[in-house]
Amino acid sequence: MKETDCIFCKIANGEIPSKTIYEDGEFRVVLDLGPATKGHALILPKDHFSDIYEIPEEKVASVMKLAKKLTKQMTETLRCDGFNIVQNNGEAAGQTVMHYHLHLIPRYKNDGQHILWNPTEPTQEELEEIRKIITQE
Ligand code: 5GP
Ligand code: ZN
Repeated sequence: MKETDCIFCKIANGEIPSKTIYEDGEFRVVLDLGPATKGHALILPKDHFSDIYEIPEEKVASVMKLAKKLTKQMTETLRCDGFNIVQNNGEAAGQTVMHYHLHLIPRYKNDGQHILWNPTEPTQEELEEIRKIITQE
């Protein structure tokens, strides 16, 4: 299913032109218009799912299979040194387009990007408290 006002539905389904690096029946993979680095690409499902909660398990598994295939190809063709594979889920996490997408961000030594987080220093007690909340023990 598509959403009429969703820009990524339109891009994924070819209604808006894009720099496509891969396409099949389920996905289109395009170059990001505001790339973090050279080759930054987005895996877009052709159907509309807003986020990780909505996308079916089998579909997200296919997204990851495709990520594996493309990162291999891109590592060989771009000669990048690493990858950040990122999905911003929800506004608080930086998601700006509410159509599920996976970022494939090639990394190059000294590329000047800052995609990693600032680590914090919880105590063992604090970690245990969080562990119990998550597992509902
Ligand atoms: P988010 O912040 O939702 O995880 O990522 C949205 C990404 O989509 C951003 O990296 C942004 O540069 C990219 N983007 C936004 N609009 C367009 C567009 O029209 N075409 C393409 N190719 N990328 C877009
Ligand atoms: Zn959409």
